[in-house]
Amino acid sequence: MKVLLVEDDDALAEALAEALHEAGVLVEQADCGGEADFLVRTEAYDAVILDLGLPDGDGSRWLAEWREDAIELPVLVLTARTRWADKAAGFSAGADDYVTKPFETAEVLFRLRALVRRSHGHAHPVLRIGELAFDTHTGSVTLAGRPVSLTAQESRLLAYLAHAAPRVVSRSELAEHVYDRDHEPDSNVIDVQISRLRRKLGAARIETRRGQGYRLIGDAEAS
Ligand code: CA
Repeated sequence: MKVLLVEDDDALAEALAEALHEAGVLVEQADCGGEADFLVRTEAYDAVILDLGLPDGDGSRWLAEWREDAIELPVLVLTARTRWADKAAGFSAGADDYVTKPFETAEVLFRLRALVRRSHGHAHPVLRIGELAFDTHTGSVTLAGRPVSLTAQESRLLAYLAHAAPRVVSRSELAEHVYDRDHEPDSNVIDVQISRLRRKLGAARIETRRGQGYRLIGDAEAS
């Protein structure tokens, strides 16, 4: 999962970014609405965490513009404001969820994961693709009930494929959502990591569609 964190309070932004990073989330940051607006329109994210009180305007103003322009990213609003009117303005602008400062980092993570899951059309916190189960909250993976150990990068790759399944995901889409903007890999690196995942999950579990990309397949199709 790759999120854009828009927050002008440096200390808070760093603390939250670090906690998200420890949980396996890729985080890119913006400290004003203008920068956030540029990034949202040029980069691929799975969600945005948006502070409302930004130095160059109210966050809800930018959010309203994104929604106007059919940018449908899940947006979790983060703000010190507790007045009902401010929350209402955030939701009216197109927020999907709301956390009031001070907050528990764990709560932000839970809400973020639920938003991303929902944006892919999943309600259950555990994604099941045949015998493969991916827990969106713990990141744990089991195959026919047996735990599978993955590196952080393998886990991000599998998480993206599992959220998207049974859709085919192109290499460029994977590169954008699973790797840092500064470390976007060439397709070779993705192929190598897919090979590693196949060794752990079974070769037939990840199908290569020539010229299109990859997709996770259930057991009926895999056998
Ligand atoms: Ca602020």
